[in-house]
Amino acid sequence: MPEAEALIDQEIPVLDKGFVRLVDYLGGDQRIVQSARVSYGAGTKSYREDRGLIHYLMRNEHTSPFEQVVLTFHAKMPVFVARQWVRHRTARLNEISGRYSVMRDEFYVPRPEDLRGQSIDNKQARSDEVVPGADALAQAIQEEQGRSYKTYETYLGKGLAREVARINLPLSLYTEWYWQIDLHNLFHFLHLRMDAHAQYEIRVYAEAMARCAQAVAPLAYEAFEEHKLGAVKFSQSECAALVALLEGREPELVGRPRALFETKVAKLRAAHAVEAPEDPTPPGD
Ligand SMILES: Cc1cc2nc3c(=O)[nH]c(=O)nc-3n(C[C@H](O)[C@H](O)[C@H](O)COP(=O)(O)OP(=O)(O)OC[C@H]3O[C@@H](n4cnc5c(N)ncnc54)[C@H](O)[C@@H]3O)c2cc1C
Repeated sequence: MPEAEALIDQEIPVLDKGFVRLVDYLGGDQRIVQSARVSYGAGTKSYREDRGLIHYLMRNEHTSPFEQVVLTFHAKMPVFVARQWVRHRTARLNEISGRYSVMRDEFYVPRPEDLRGQSIDNKQARSDEVVPGADALAQAIQEEQGRSYKTYETYLGKGLAREVARINLPLSLYTEWYWQIDLHNLFHFLHLRMDAHAQYEIRVYAEAMARCAQAVAPLAYEAFEEHKLGAVKFSQSECAALVALLEGREPELVGRPRALFETKVAKLRAAHAVEAPEDPTPPGD
């Protein structure tokens, strides 16, 4: 794939000092359709038929042909991002060793505009409001990192083993690894980590890897966007509420389920710029 070849060995900058680099890849859209058609003894057909097949596979969760495509990344990220990233067990990785190497004086310093307050409605998220004194806070974070690194150097200077000297280094320290994953499981990772609920600092890595996946397998990525990334999942009662909305009736959901449903409907409307219909509840009802 010329688009993917152009990305090989190029560092895509992420955060202040991190990156994602596509090391290499195996297969692409053609491998997906060839492996899906193996039972019929046929390989690739026309572009139109291949595209239709890839969409069919994605739509129907026929996932194994996507596992035939493999991507290897070299990525550099803060330790707290790596902690979230490593939860995805279907990848193979090798990380720099803090027992073997002296860790570099490289820490993630958030931009002041990313220093936002605690979200009130989501205990795991930040709000849209930048905290007062964000510039001074960013400065304080950086100074504390500097003190931690100086202490680390002092411990090393006293002859302490690297594996122990590192234990008080903060989560903002940069680490790096080689990470290899098949396309099906990469899409699963991207679906979770490109979501608005994922932490900003891992989302930007997911976006960089999405660029690589799109270059390696553009039709598969198109199908992923169509059937997974751009799709919204509704529960059974939310489906009933949707039907009510379509029929101009008031949905029966109340309280938090109603609020969650409305958030999803608002996401749909925002994504597709659909005007909200007039309030279906008759005046005085
Ligand atoms: C917004 C968000 C918030 C999160 N918050 C927390 C948190 O507070 N605390 C926390 O601990 N985690 C948290 N996580 C991590 C989350 O619980 C998952 O561990 C992570 O997203 C990996 O998902 P996964 O297991 O589906 O992926 P993978 O590990 O890549 O696995 C892919 C799929 O393979 C299967 N699989 C893989 N390994 C096994 C296995 N050993 N046994 C059975 N099936 C397996 C499962 O079907 C799985 O869905 C959060 C994730 C997100 C996206």
